[in-house]
Amino acid sequence: MPKTVTLPNGETVPALGQGTWYMGESAPERAEEVAALRAGLDLGLTLIDTAEMYADGGAEEVVGEAVAGRRGEVFLVSKVYPHNASRAGVQAACERSLKRLKTDVIDLYLLHWRGSHPLKETIAGFEALQAAGKIRLWGVSNLDTDDMEELLAAPGGHACSANQVLYNPSRRGPEFDLLPFLAEARIPAMAYSPIEQARLPRGGALGAVAKKHGVDPFQVALAWVMRAGDVIAIPKASRIAHVQMNAAAHDLVLDAEDLATIDRAFPAPRRKVGLEML
Ligand code: NAP
Repeated sequence: MPKTVTLPNGETVPALGQGTWYMGESAPERAEEVAALRAGLDLGLTLIDTAEMYADGGAEEVVGEAVAGRRGEVFLVSKVYPHNASRAGVQAACERSLKRLKTDVIDLYLLHWRGSHPLKETIAGFEALQAAGKIRLWGVSNLDTDDMEELLAAPGGHACSANQVLYNPSRRGPEFDLLPFLAEARIPAMAYSPIEQARLPRGGALGAVAKKHGVDPFQVALAWVMRAGDVIAIPKASRIAHVQMNAAAHDLVLDAEDLATIDRAFPAPRRKVGLEML
């Protein structure tokens, strides 16, 4: 059974998706990036995460090409820059993203990080986009617990559908209070950089657990990120071999012994750690 995560509206999305940061930056690599995303769709990685920031819109164009003719299969996530997150700015930015993505609607539109525009203005912009049918759902990214409290208390804030944050075995800070807060509010977390941009140590605990299961250490990290059932992992891979490896992590189930091994090497936080960003 494919692992899924349930959104606050009851809809389910794949627990394992595809990121796109650094795609769209080099013309010679574009065909490979499109092919990698399409291979991911074939393997069930049908949630694609992008942003207007990535390659100044270039990543959205790559995604547009990858989902052409297959839009119905895809749960499409994009993000608005904080400096565009005024009520009117959100709407203009979304129109530009839709053009680059060559689609009529974004499934989930996120505030990339908190900037100077008041959250209630950004929410009002998202609501106008929903009313116009340009986005289906909205959410946030890089908001720590205090910001989430403020968001949920703002008019319309309870409609937030996800918070995308840095989370992997070497970045467990959100486990102290942010992930419990989100779980209580039934708002899924989306884990970005789930393999720490390929910098997670391949030896040690991840290597030992990987050896036991006959898999790759990065597959262990992805299975670990998805272990609780309410976190979506969005690894980015421009190479088909990486996409295939990541998709296979889907079937890996870690047991209590594996989790204890990982805990010893990457201890859970004992006190509040401010949310880190990449
Ligand atoms: P990541 O997914 O942890 O790592 C991506 C890197 O790992 C790429 O260099 C990729 O190589 C490599 N890789 C992927 N699968 C691999 C595998 N099985 N074996 C070996 N190497 C592998 O890092 P990320 O791109 O920073 O994060 C994922 C996505 O999260 C982003 O693409 C973006 O969509 C999102 N994100 C959001 C924020 C935010 O502020 N909201 C911040 C950062 C990231 P190749 O590409 O060469 O295959």
